[in-house]
Amino acid sequence: MIIVMKPNPSPEVVQGMVDRVEKMGLKAHVIEGTERTVIAAVGDDRKGNKAVFESYDEVEKVMPILAPYKIASVETKPESTVIKVRDLVIGGGTIGVIAGPCSVESEEQVMETARQVKAAGAKGLRGGAFKPRTSPYSFQGMKEEGLKLLAAAREETGLAIVTEVMTPHHVELVAAYTDVLQIGARNMQNYHLLQAVGEVRKPILLKRGASASMDEFLLAAEYILDQGNQEVALCERGIRTFETHTRFTLPLASVPYLKARTHLPIVIDPSHGTGVASLVTPMCRAAVAVGADGLIIEVHPDPKNAASDGAQSLTPEVFAAAMEQCRKVANALDLNM
Ligand code: PEP
Ligand code: MN
Repeated sequence: MIIVMKPNPSPEVVQGMVDRVEKMGLKAHVIEGTERTVIAAVGDDRKGNKAVFESYDEVEKVMPILAPYKIASVETKPESTVIKVRDLVIGGGTIGVIAGPCSVESEEQVMETARQVKAAGAKGLRGGAFKPRTSPYSFQGMKEEGLKLLAAAREETGLAIVTEVMTPHHVELVAAYTDVLQIGARNMQNYHLLQAVGEVRKPILLKRGASASMDEFLLAAEYILDQGNQEVALCERGIRTFETHTRFTLPLASVPYLKARTHLPIVIDPSHGTGVASLVTPMCRAAVAVGADGLIIEVHPDPKNAASDGAQSLTPEVFAAAMEQCRKVANALDLNM
């Protein structure tokens, strides 16, 4: 349930309410809005504690949270969550662009890509150092060496780093280098990993599992939020369908659907969503038009020789042209990009 406090409660009053919630065996999440402070009391709440909270003078009203996901729901927090890290802003009318190679391959490759995507307007640099590959015989990533190259690229360009973490054992290591931790599609329901990144105080980019429903996606985000990490961006990266012409099917209706249900910002990944470089630019334009808060795009200086996902990677030149087109769409909608 959501406990809506009367305006400007003192810290003591809020703490008193938190203690009361916790005494009932529920978890208290304090969410400070611009208008109101609310306390989301979540957990197994079958005893009907609503009346107890309603009896407090400092409480304006108490409402049940109807959605299965509680902290992620707009019912708990109607204001949009905006993620800000270095110059990367995702949400609140700004479209944050993250671009870079699928995998970190070499110093030259990362540096060149970083310089070019920055020049074209990206604010985040993506690149996998730990790669979840379908085959155990495929390139598995440069691991810590790759993280060091990403950090060096940040040092020179100032771009915020976005890279994947695949196991709870690596959370500390990856978090030491990166600005945003990516949870890959294959790990969307790795609940121990979700809880581990929930304890980090850095933003998380959570990718939708290829066959996850919207409720499963939002409940995965809830695992992270429930650990106290409020900075989660949801990434639609395409789902598996019967279609074979594209690698996955990219449902852009996810954006308005999710926006009606959650305050978390939504990022579109048209690279994995289509698997085809020629389809990426049009889907970027469409993603901006449909209201996405961010884009994550694979860019490689030499896609034909990429260690992974070359077929869906844009050259830096094509990426720069895509950015220009997207900016026109953003401008028409009074959005920053
Ligand atoms: C990636 O970003 O390179 C990646 C592996 O993405 P996904 O988890 O969406 O497949
Ligand atoms: Mn990839």
